[in-house]
Amino acid sequence: MAPAQASLLAKLDTQERVRDFLTNAVASGRASHAYLFLGAPGAGKLDAAWALAQAFLCEQDGCGACDSCVRVARHTHPDVHYYTPESATGYLIAQTRELLDDVPLAPIRAKAKVYIIDRAEQLRANTANALLKTLEEPPEGVMFILLGTSADVMLPTIVSRCQCVPFRLVSPTVAARAVSRATGQDLARCRMAVAVAGSPTRGIEFLKSAERQDARRQMVRAIDSLIAADEADVLSRAKSLIVAVKAPLAEVKSTQEKVLEQNADYLSRGALKQLEDRNKRELNARERSGIMEALASARTLMRDVLLTLQDEAADVVNEDVRDTIGRLAAATNVAGATRALEAVATAERNIARNVTPQLAIEVMLFDIRKALKCR
Ligand SMILES: [Zn+2]
Repeated sequence: MAPAQASLLAKLDTQERVRDFLTNAVASGRASHAYLFLGAPGAGKLDAAWALAQAFLCEQDGCGACDSCVRVARHTHPDVHYYTPESATGYLIAQTRELLDDVPLAPIRAKAKVYIIDRAEQLRANTANALLKTLEEPPEGVMFILLGTSADVMLPTIVSRCQCVPFRLVSPTVAARAVSRATGQDLARCRMAVAVAGSPTRGIEFLKSAERQDARRQMVRAIDSLIAADEADVLSRAKSLIVAVKAPLAEVKSTQEKVLEQNADYLSRGALKQLEDRNKRELNARERSGIMEALASARTLMRDVLLTLQDEAADVVNEDVRDTIGRLAAATNVAGATRALEAVATAERNIARNVTPQLAIEVMLFDIRKALKCR
């Protein structure tokens, strides 16, 4: 067997019970066809979903090293489908329809298929009903992994058809330690990575991606510059931020094109069109998650500024940019930092509402500039 460290399941070391439970289920060949992962944001549900998908599709229970495992780890496996609500109010009917149309189709590369359905509490009753039948009797070799915060907010008919897996809350310190063990980087840097990326696994990926770290750096610099920025500066900062956020997408795009090329000969035109549509959506989703990560960088930075204003010796998350935090704290006051945080929250809502990233970032930077000067 290949080294266990390489598999995503083995890396779930902040959720040992979940890790052991899922590892046993796959190894014994008794994996359920529908799981419901339940827990607070940051507990690592999405990481666990990708890990389970990897183990389920791999011919060796998730070796972490084969072609299939590598593709799942890079989120480029054509048989793992990730869904997240595409409108501010929940899943679109078109999304559920596409999913249900896809379920009976044969897998493209693997022997099985996995559907990860994030924020499953946002499945509306009308779309959920269509899904229920499939959840009850999915075709052979199909696994559903639904993610939700708590069973109370989910449709009971969905909960009863899934095997529920509770995730425990992971403290930022425990998460940072896990990232530090995996990357060998110091705790302060790992704590920042978890705060910006949102979970230990994404924190590890963040620390491995020069492009994602650059996007964060650009965000920090943009906000740092706002104290003295004129209108043209703000617009040009927003522009380079968007370029930085989009940089990691180039690799995804080229992988997608390769998969399309490889499958062009034996897929029907309808199936090809579906793959192209899915690729487009995946790129969109990735761009949005890149923007959300950049916004998380802004949020943690402004929270550090607020903390520092309240207590000069405060324990900040963005240890590496203490000078920026100090400059911003000196330029504003508690009311200003609070308003700046509100501007970040507004930008997050705007992205969720499909406002273009460029516009959302521009508006946010102008609002933060205004907020900082309100002392
Ligand atoms: Zn494998």
